[in-house]
Amino acid sequence: MKKKSAGSGIPVVECFYSLQGEGFHEGWPAFFIRLAGCRNACPFCDTKESWSEDGYPCFSPEELMRQVLDAGAVACVLTGGEPMLHDLTGLCRCLKASGIELWLETSGSEPLTGQWDWVCLSPKKGIPVRPEYYIRANELKVVVGKEEDLAFAEAEAAKVGTGCLCYLQSEWSVSAKKMPMIIDYVLRHPRWKVSVQMHKFLNVR
Ligand code: SF4
Repeated sequence: MKKKSAGSGIPVVECFYSLQGEGFHEGWPAFFIRLAGCRNACPFCDTKESWSEDGYPCFSPEELMRQVLDAGAVACVLTGGEPMLHDLTGLCRCLKASGIELWLETSGSEPLTGQWDWVCLSPKKGIPVRPEYYIRANELKVVVGKEEDLAFAEAEAAKVGTGCLCYLQSEWSVSAKKMPMIIDYVLRHPRWKVSVQMHKFLNVR
């Protein structure tokens, strides 16, 4: 299916300035732009409100850039939904021109657009990842809800480059129960690191 042009603006669920709570940039301040739209329908999705684009306001790259600069941010996370449902070439160009570092969070299900300083690939079981993401990923983050998900994580890790950082993150709803299993797995398989969703423990967005 054709990627949506950003010509009439990009639909945005929410924007906020906070701490990156997961993965390599955990604890770093960043401006989050959560885009609307996702076709993947993962059963464990914790942002189901972002699946549809209906009813969300659309912003131009310049309007979003102004919000990032007004917040005083130096880094920006594009997330969703699936942000790559939209052509983000223009938005990336605009933010880069202002010296903003750009971090992408994606399932890898849609064609890659834009220029990124950091790509976090978070593949979902049953959703094919486009090959360019395995080459481009700086970070692989696999959400684990049950033991079988570890085999999926290993299969995905076999496809990324050797320099790609690999994180296992517990599904938040089962985090207390599953974290010991994940810690034990990481201790025995040191290619992996644990990602803990620090922002939920700190009760920040
Ligand atoms: S890809 Fe992400 S936003 Fe889309 S359904 Fe899956 S978890 Fe939710």
